[in-house]
Amino acid sequence: MTVPNVVIVGAGLSGAVLARELADRGIRCLVVDRKSHVAGNCYTRLDVDTGIMEHVYGAHVFNTDNETIWSYIQRFCTMGAFINRVKVDLPSGVYSFPINLHTINQFFGLRLNPTEARAFLAAKGDSSIVEPKSFEEQALRFVGPELYRAFFYGYTKKQWGCEPSQLPASILKRVPIRFNYDDRYYSGRFQGIPKEGYTVAVERILDHPHISVKLDTTWEEAMRDEFDYIFYTGALDAFYGFRCGRLGYRTVYWNKISASGDFQGNAVLNYPSIDVPHTRICEHKHFTPWESHERTIAFVEFSKETGPEDIPYYPKRLAPDLETLTQYQALARSEDNVFFLGRLATYRYLDMHVVIDEALRLAQRFLQWRRGDVTERPVFASEL
Ligand code: UDP
Repeated sequence: MTVPNVVIVGAGLSGAVLARELADRGIRCLVVDRKSHVAGNCYTRLDVDTGIMEHVYGAHVFNTDNETIWSYIQRFCTMGAFINRVKVDLPSGVYSFPINLHTINQFFGLRLNPTEARAFLAAKGDSSIVEPKSFEEQALRFVGPELYRAFFYGYTKKQWGCEPSQLPASILKRVPIRFNYDDRYYSGRFQGIPKEGYTVAVERILDHPHISVKLDTTWEEAMRDEFDYIFYTGALDAFYGFRCGRLGYRTVYWNKISASGDFQGNAVLNYPSIDVPHTRICEHKHFTPWESHERTIAFVEFSKETGPEDIPYYPKRLAPDLETLTQYQALARSEDNVFFLGRLATYRYLDMHVVIDEALRLAQRFLQWRRGDVTERPVFASEL
Protein backbone atom coordinates (compact mmCIF):
# COMPACT_ATOMS: atom_id res chain seq x y z
CA MET A 1 0.00 0.00 0.00
CA THR A 2 1.32 3.48 -0.82
CA VAL A 3 2.06 5.85 2.02
CA PRO A 4 -0.79 8.40 2.16
CA ASN A 5 -0.34 12.08 2.64
CA VAL A 6 -2.57 12.91 5.64
CA VAL A 7 -3.49 16.26 7.12
CA ILE A 8 -5.39 16.72 10.35
CA VAL A 9 -6.94 20.13 10.77
CA GLY A 10 -6.99 21.04 14.46
CA ALA A 11 -4.53 20.17 17.22
CA GLY A 12 -7.19 19.80 19.91
CA LEU A 13 -7.96 16.57 21.67
CA SER A 14 -9.72 14.90 18.74
CA GLY A 15 -7.04 15.82 16.18
CA ALA A 16 -4.22 14.78 18.49
CA VAL A 17 -5.74 11.39 19.37
CA LEU A 18 -6.47 10.64 15.74
CA ALA A 19 -2.96 11.65 14.66
CA ARG A 20 -1.43 9.42 17.32
CA GLU A 21 -3.50 6.40 16.31
CA LEU A 22 -2.52 6.77 12.66
CA ALA A 23 1.13 7.51 13.52
CA ASP A 24 1.31 4.43 15.74
CA ARG A 25 0.28 2.41 12.66
CA GLY A 26 2.99 3.90 10.50
CA ILE A 27 1.04 6.73 8.82
CA ARG A 28 2.70 10.13 8.74
CA CYS A 29 0.44 13.02 9.68
CA LEU A 30 0.68 16.76 9.45
CA VAL A 31 -1.42 18.49 12.11
CA VAL A 32 -2.25 22.14 11.44
CA ASP A 33 -3.92 24.58 13.78
CA ARG A 34 -4.66 28.25 13.39
CA LYS A 35 -4.04 28.84 17.07
CA SER A 36 -0.52 29.35 18.33
CA HIS A 37 -0.83 26.40 20.73
CA VAL A 38 -2.05 22.81 20.80
CA ALA A 39 -4.87 21.38 22.96
CA GLY A 40 -7.74 23.43 21.48
CA ASN A 41 -10.26 24.54 24.06
CA CYS A 42 -8.83 22.37 26.83
CA TYR A 43 -5.59 24.39 26.64
CA THR A 44 -4.13 25.15 30.07
CA ARG A 45 -1.11 27.24 31.02
CA LEU A 46 0.41 28.54 34.22
CA ASP A 47 -0.80 32.01 35.11
CA VAL A 48 2.34 34.16 35.05
CA ASP A 49 1.59 36.08 38.25
CA THR A 50 0.47 33.23 40.48
CA GLY A 51 1.68 29.96 38.91
CA ILE A 52 -1.90 28.65 39.11
CA MET A 53 -3.02 26.34 36.31
CA GLU A 54 -5.33 28.43 34.17
CA HIS A 55 -7.94 26.78 31.95
CA VAL A 56 -7.77 29.48 29.31
CA TYR A 57 -10.94 28.52 27.41
CA GLY A 58 -12.98 27.54 30.45
CA ALA A 59 -12.61 24.87 33.09
CA HIS A 60 -12.37 21.26 31.93
CA VAL A 61 -12.78 18.35 34.32
CA PHE A 62 -12.04 14.94 32.85
CA ASN A 63 -14.76 12.47 33.81
CA THR A 64 -15.78 9.15 32.38
CA ASP A 65 -17.22 5.75 33.14
CA ASN A 66 -15.20 4.22 30.34
CA GLU A 67 -12.17 2.39 31.73
CA THR A 68 -10.51 2.12 28.32
CA ILE A 69 -10.61 5.88 27.81
CA TRP A 70 -9.45 6.52 31.37
CA SER A 71 -6.44 4.24 30.74
CA TYR A 72 -5.83 5.86 27.36
CA ILE A 73 -5.50 9.41 28.72
CA GLN A 74 -3.26 8.21 31.53
CA ARG A 75 -0.71 6.96 29.01
CA PHE A 76 0.01 10.66 28.47
CA CYS A 77 -0.50 12.28 31.86
CA THR A 78 -0.75 11.69 35.56
CA MET A 79 -4.25 12.49 36.70
CA GLY A 80 -4.57 14.60 39.83
CA ALA A 81 -7.48 13.67 42.07
CA PHE A 82 -10.26 16.20 41.65
CA ILE A 83 -13.96 15.66 42.21
CA ASN A 84 -16.13 18.51 41.00
CA ARG A 85 -18.64 19.65 43.64
CA VAL A 86 -20.56 22.65 42.44
CA LYS A 87 -22.49 25.11 44.61
CA VAL A 88 -25.34 27.32 43.49
CA ASP A 89 -25.74 30.89 44.69
CA LEU A 90 -29.38 32.03 44.83
CA PRO A 91 -30.94 35.07 46.52
CA SER A 92 -32.25 32.74 49.24
CA GLY A 93 -28.86 31.13 49.98
CA VAL A 94 -26.13 28.84 48.74
CA TYR A 95 -27.20 25.33 47.77
CA SER A 96 -25.68 22.00 46.91
CA PHE A 97 -25.83 21.18 43.18
CA PRO A 98 -26.67 19.10 41.14
CA ILE A 99 -30.02 18.70 42.84
CA ASN A 100 -29.62 16.03 45.50
CA LEU A 101 -31.25 15.18 48.80
CA HIS A 102 -29.40 17.99 50.52
CA THR A 103 -30.63 20.52 47.93
CA ILE A 104 -34.23 19.35 48.22
CA ASN A 105 -34.13 19.51 52.02
CA GLN A 106 -32.32 22.88 52.03
CA PHE A 107 -34.57 24.46 49.45
CA PHE A 108 -37.91 23.33 50.87
CA GLY A 109 -36.81 23.42 54.56
CA LEU A 110 -37.53 19.70 54.98
CA ARG A 111 -35.89 16.59 56.42
CA LEU A 112 -36.91 14.00 53.87
CA ASN A 113 -35.22 10.66 53.49
CA PRO A 114 -34.50 9.28 50.00
CA THR A 115 -37.86 7.51 49.62
CA GLU A 116 -39.80 10.52 50.84
CA ALA A 117 -37.84 12.88 48.60
CA ARG A 118 -38.51 10.72 45.57
CA ALA A 119 -42.26 10.76 46.28
CA PHE A 120 -42.12 14.49 47.06
CA LEU A 121 -40.51 15.38 43.71
CA ALA A 122 -42.71 12.92 41.83
CA ALA A 123 -45.71 14.84 43.16
CA LYS A 124 -44.12 18.16 42.08
CA GLY A 125 -43.32 16.83 38.60
CA ASP A 126 -45.85 17.21 35.82
CA SER A 127 -46.76 13.61 35.01
CA SER A 128 -48.90 14.69 32.06
CA ILE A 129 -45.60 15.24 30.18
CA VAL A 130 -44.98 11.67 29.05
CA GLU A 131 -42.10 12.21 26.64
CA PRO A 132 -40.37 15.52 27.39
CA LYS A 133 -39.43 17.20 24.13
CA SER A 134 -37.68 20.29 25.44
CA PHE A 135 -35.35 21.31 28.26
CA GLU A 136 -38.32 22.95 29.99
CA GLU A 137 -40.57 19.90 29.70
CA GLN A 138 -37.79 17.67 30.99
CA ALA A 139 -37.38 19.95 34.03
CA LEU A 140 -41.09 20.33 34.73
CA ARG A 141 -41.55 16.58 34.40
CA PHE A 142 -38.77 15.60 36.80
CA VAL A 143 -38.22 18.44 39.31
CA GLY A 144 -41.39 20.55 39.13
CA PRO A 145 -41.82 24.31 38.78
CA GLU A 146 -40.08 25.62 41.95
CA LEU A 147 -36.72 23.93 41.45
CA TYR A 148 -36.91 24.56 37.72
CA ARG A 149 -37.40 28.31 38.17
CA ALA A 150 -34.72 28.59 40.86
CA PHE A 151 -31.93 26.38 39.51
CA PHE A 152 -32.42 25.99 35.78
CA TYR A 153 -34.55 28.66 34.11
CA GLY A 154 -32.32 31.73 34.57
CA TYR A 155 -29.01 29.91 34.14
CA THR A 156 -30.18 28.27 30.94
CA LYS A 157 -31.64 31.46 29.50
CA LYS A 158 -28.36 33.29 30.17
CA GLN A 159 -26.21 30.42 28.95
CA TRP A 160 -28.10 29.69 25.75
CA GLY A 161 -29.71 33.08 25.00
CA CYS A 162 -33.15 31.61 24.38
CA GLU A 163 -36.11 30.16 26.25
CA PRO A 164 -35.48 26.69 27.70
CA SER A 165 -38.68 25.62 25.91
CA GLN A 166 -36.74 25.98 22.62
CA LEU A 167 -33.82 23.81 23.74
CA PRO A 168 -33.55 20.02 23.52
CA ALA A 169 -34.17 17.91 26.64
CA SER A 170 -30.72 16.36 26.13
CA ILE A 171 -29.02 19.46 27.62
CA LEU A 172 -30.74 18.95 30.97
CA LYS A 173 -30.08 15.22 30.87
CA ARG A 174 -26.39 16.08 31.33
CA VAL A 175 -27.15 17.11 34.90
CA PRO A 176 -28.21 14.32 37.29
CA ILE A 177 -30.88 14.51 39.99
CA ARG A 178 -30.10 12.42 43.05
CA PHE A 179 -32.13 11.25 46.01
CA ASN A 180 -29.12 10.80 48.29
CA TYR A 181 -26.41 13.13 49.61
CA ASP A 182 -24.00 12.43 46.76
CA ASP A 183 -23.06 15.97 45.64
CA ARG A 184 -20.52 15.07 42.93
CA TYR A 185 -21.26 17.03 39.78
CA TYR A 186 -20.36 14.11 37.53
CA SER A 187 -21.50 10.58 38.19
CA GLY A 188 -18.64 8.94 36.24
CA ARG A 189 -16.42 6.46 38.10
CA PHE A 190 -13.22 8.17 36.99
CA GLN A 191 -12.55 11.88 37.44
CA GLY A 192 -9.50 14.09 37.55
CA ILE A 193 -7.41 16.84 36.00
CA PRO A 194 -3.94 16.23 34.52
CA LYS A 195 -1.42 17.30 37.17
CA GLU A 196 0.62 19.19 34.59
CA GLY A 197 -2.43 20.41 32.69
CA TYR A 198 -4.11 19.37 29.45
CA THR A 199 -1.59 21.10 27.21
CA VAL A 200 1.24 18.83 28.38
CA ALA A 201 -1.01 15.78 27.89
CA VAL A 202 -1.87 16.79 24.32
CA GLU A 203 1.78 17.64 23.56
CA ARG A 204 2.69 14.11 24.62
CA ILE A 205 -0.05 12.58 22.48
CA LEU A 206 1.41 14.49 19.52
CA ASP A 207 5.01 13.64 20.38
CA HIS A 208 5.69 10.96 17.77
CA PRO A 209 8.25 10.74 14.93
CA HIS A 210 5.43 10.35 12.38
CA ILE A 211 3.59 13.51 13.53
CA SER A 212 4.53 17.05 12.60
CA VAL A 213 2.60 20.02 13.94
CA LYS A 214 2.27 23.40 12.24
CA LEU A 215 0.71 26.10 14.42
CA ASP A 216 -0.55 29.54 13.33
CA THR A 217 -1.69 27.86 10.13
CA THR A 218 -5.24 28.43 8.95
CA TRP A 219 -6.74 25.69 6.83
CA GLU A 220 -7.70 26.86 3.38
CA GLU A 221 -9.69 25.27 0.61
CA ALA A 222 -6.69 25.62 -1.71
CA MET A 223 -4.68 23.24 0.51
CA ARG A 224 -6.98 20.32 -0.28
CA ASP A 225 -5.08 19.14 -3.34
CA GLU A 226 -1.88 18.66 -1.36
CA PHE A 227 -3.34 15.75 0.63
CA ASP A 228 -4.77 12.29 0.04
CA TYR A 229 -6.87 12.38 3.20
CA ILE A 230 -8.15 15.28 5.26
CA PHE A 231 -9.35 14.88 8.84
CA TYR A 232 -11.16 18.01 9.84
CA THR A 233 -11.97 19.01 13.42
CA GLY A 234 -12.95 22.67 12.90
CA ALA A 235 -16.45 24.06 12.54
CA LEU A 236 -18.38 22.25 9.80
CA ASP A 237 -19.94 25.43 8.39
CA ALA A 238 -16.51 27.10 8.20
CA PHE A 239 -15.13 24.16 6.16
CA TYR A 240 -17.68 24.98 3.48
CA GLY A 241 -17.16 28.75 3.68
CA PHE A 242 -20.60 29.18 5.36
CA ARG A 243 -22.22 28.64 1.97
CA CYS A 244 -25.41 27.18 3.52
CA GLY A 245 -25.45 29.75 6.35
CA ARG A 246 -24.00 29.76 9.85
CA LEU A 247 -24.65 27.13 12.50
CA GLY A 248 -25.64 28.71 15.83
CA TYR A 249 -23.14 28.63 18.68
CA ARG A 250 -22.90 30.30 22.05
CA THR A 251 -19.57 31.69 23.04
CA VAL A 252 -18.33 32.44 26.54
CA TYR A 253 -16.07 35.17 27.91
CA TRP A 254 -14.64 36.02 31.30
CA ASN A 255 -13.72 38.81 33.64
CA LYS A 256 -10.60 37.82 35.53
CA ILE A 257 -10.32 38.58 39.25
CA SER A 258 -6.92 38.43 41.02
CA ALA A 259 -6.89 38.43 44.80
CA SER A 260 -5.05 37.06 47.77
CA GLY A 261 -6.28 34.08 49.77
CA ASP A 262 -9.44 32.24 48.89
CA PHE A 263 -12.01 34.07 46.74
CA GLN A 264 -15.04 31.77 46.98
CA GLY A 265 -13.96 28.59 48.74
CA ASN A 266 -14.81 26.27 45.86
CA ALA A 267 -13.86 25.62 42.23
CA VAL A 268 -17.31 26.44 40.80
CA LEU A 269 -20.21 28.59 42.00
CA ASN A 270 -23.20 28.83 39.66
CA TYR A 271 -25.46 31.89 39.53
CA PRO A 272 -28.83 30.89 38.07
CA SER A 273 -30.62 34.09 39.08
CA ILE A 274 -31.76 36.08 36.06
CA ASP A 275 -30.91 39.30 37.94
CA VAL A 276 -27.18 38.44 37.91
CA PRO A 277 -25.57 38.81 34.46
CA HIS A 278 -22.98 36.04 34.77
CA THR A 279 -23.62 32.29 34.80
CA ARG A 280 -20.81 31.08 37.05
CA ILE A 281 -17.49 31.89 38.69
CA CYS A 282 -14.62 29.42 38.54
CA GLU A 283 -11.68 29.78 40.90
CA HIS A 284 -8.94 27.86 39.18
CA LYS A 285 -6.63 26.97 42.06
CA HIS A 286 -9.39 24.81 43.54
CA PHE A 287 -9.15 22.55 40.46
CA THR A 288 -5.64 21.54 41.63
CA PRO A 289 -6.14 20.70 45.32
CA TRP A 290 -2.70 18.99 45.35
CA GLU A 291 -1.07 22.45 44.98
CA SER A 292 -1.08 25.38 47.38
CA HIS A 293 -1.11 29.05 46.37
CA GLU A 294 -1.30 32.20 48.47
CA ARG A 295 -2.88 34.22 45.71
CA THR A 296 -5.88 33.31 43.62
CA ILE A 297 -7.47 33.91 40.22
CA ALA A 298 -11.18 33.61 39.54
CA PHE A 299 -13.06 33.94 36.26
CA VAL A 300 -16.56 35.40 36.09
CA GLU A 301 -18.21 33.71 33.11
CA PHE A 302 -20.66 35.30 30.69
CA SER A 303 -22.30 33.86 27.62
CA LYS A 304 -23.31 35.49 24.33
CA GLU A 305 -24.11 34.76 20.72
CA THR A 306 -21.05 33.85 18.64
CA GLY A 307 -20.10 36.61 16.21
CA PRO A 308 -17.82 35.99 13.18
CA GLU A 309 -14.71 36.86 15.24
CA ASP A 310 -15.67 34.87 18.36
CA ILE A 311 -14.64 31.34 19.26
CA PRO A 312 -17.60 28.96 18.90
CA TYR A 313 -18.16 26.96 22.11
CA TYR A 314 -21.61 25.48 22.59
CA PRO A 315 -23.58 24.23 19.56
CA LYS A 316 -27.14 25.50 19.97
CA ARG A 317 -28.84 22.91 17.77
CA LEU A 318 -32.11 24.83 17.51
CA ALA A 319 -34.54 23.72 14.79
CA PRO A 320 -33.12 26.09 12.08
CA ASP A 321 -29.57 24.98 12.97
CA LEU A 322 -30.51 21.36 12.45
CA GLU A 323 -31.91 22.17 9.00
CA THR A 324 -28.68 23.94 8.06
CA LEU A 325 -26.70 21.06 9.54
CA THR A 326 -28.48 18.59 7.25
CA GLN A 327 -27.30 20.57 4.23
CA TYR A 328 -23.69 20.59 5.41
CA GLN A 329 -23.87 16.88 6.22
CA ALA A 330 -25.00 16.18 2.65
CA LEU A 331 -21.98 18.10 1.34
CA ALA A 332 -19.71 16.15 3.69
CA ARG A 333 -21.12 12.81 2.52
CA SER A 334 -20.42 13.69 -1.09
CA GLU A 335 -16.68 14.06 -0.40
CA ASP A 336 -14.41 11.13 -1.06
CA ASN A 337 -11.42 11.90 1.15
CA VAL A 338 -12.58 14.18 3.99
CA PHE A 339 -13.46 12.93 7.49
CA PHE A 340 -15.08 14.96 10.25
CA LEU A 341 -14.54 14.52 13.98
CA GLY A 342 -14.78 16.38 17.26
CA ARG A 343 -17.20 18.84 18.82
CA LEU A 344 -17.12 21.50 16.10
CA ALA A 345 -17.08 19.29 13.01
CA THR A 346 -19.92 17.09 14.23
CA TYR A 347 -21.75 20.07 15.79
CA ARG A 348 -22.44 18.38 19.11
CA TYR A 349 -22.01 19.19 22.81
CA LEU A 350 -19.28 16.69 23.71
CA ASP A 351 -17.35 15.73 26.82
CA MET A 352 -13.64 15.02 26.45
CA HIS A 353 -13.95 11.27 26.95
CA VAL A 354 -16.45 11.06 24.08
CA VAL A 355 -14.11 13.07 21.85
CA ILE A 356 -11.30 10.59 22.54
CA ASP A 357 -13.55 7.58 22.06
CA GLU A 358 -14.82 8.83 18.71
CA ALA A 359 -11.32 9.73 17.47
CA LEU A 360 -10.13 6.21 18.32
CA ARG A 361 -13.09 4.68 16.51
CA LEU A 362 -12.61 6.83 13.43
CA ALA A 363 -8.91 5.94 13.21
CA GLN A 364 -9.77 2.25 13.43
CA ARG A 365 -12.54 2.44 10.84
CA PHE A 366 -10.41 4.51 8.48
CA LEU A 367 -7.67 1.87 8.58
CA GLN A 368 -10.21 -0.90 7.96
CA TRP A 369 -11.68 1.02 5.03
CA ARG A 370 -8.26 1.64 3.51
CA ARG A 371 -7.46 -2.04 3.76
CA GLY A 372 -10.78 -2.84 2.12
CA ASP A 373 -12.14 -4.64 5.20
CA VAL A 374 -15.19 -2.37 5.14
CA THR A 375 -16.68 -0.84 2.01
CA GLU A 376 -18.52 2.16 3.40
CA ARG A 377 -16.29 5.19 3.87
CA PRO A 378 -16.63 6.69 7.35
CA VAL A 379 -17.60 10.38 7.17
CA PHE A 380 -18.50 11.55 10.67
CA ALA A 381 -16.81 10.10 13.76
CA SER A 382 -20.17 10.48 15.50
CA GLU A 383 -21.69 7.76 13.33
CA LEU A 384 -19.37 4.87 14.14
N1 UDP B 1 -27.67 24.19 34.12
C1 UDP B 1 -28.54 24.99 34.84
N2 UDP B 1 -28.15 25.43 36.07
C2 UDP B 1 -26.95 25.16 36.60
C3 UDP B 1 -26.07 24.36 35.86
C4 UDP B 1 -26.45 23.89 34.62
O1 UDP B 1 -29.62 25.30 34.38
O2 UDP B 1 -26.67 25.62 37.72
C5 UDP B 1 -28.10 23.73 32.78
C6 UDP B 1 -27.68 24.71 31.68
O3 UDP B 1 -28.68 24.75 30.69
C7 UDP B 1 -26.42 24.08 31.15
C8 UDP B 1 -26.78 22.60 31.24
O4 UDP B 1 -27.51 22.50 32.46
O5 UDP B 1 -26.13 24.48 29.84
C9 UDP B 1 -25.60 21.66 31.24
O6 UDP B 1 -24.72 22.01 32.28
P1 UDP B 1 -23.19 21.58 32.27
O7 UDP B 1 -22.66 21.82 33.63
O8 UDP B 1 -23.07 20.24 31.67
O9 UDP B 1 -22.56 22.68 31.32
P2 UDP B 1 -21.01 22.95 30.99
O10 UDP B 1 -20.22 22.80 32.26
O11 UDP B 1 -20.67 21.97 29.92
O12 UDP B 1 -21.04 24.37 30.51
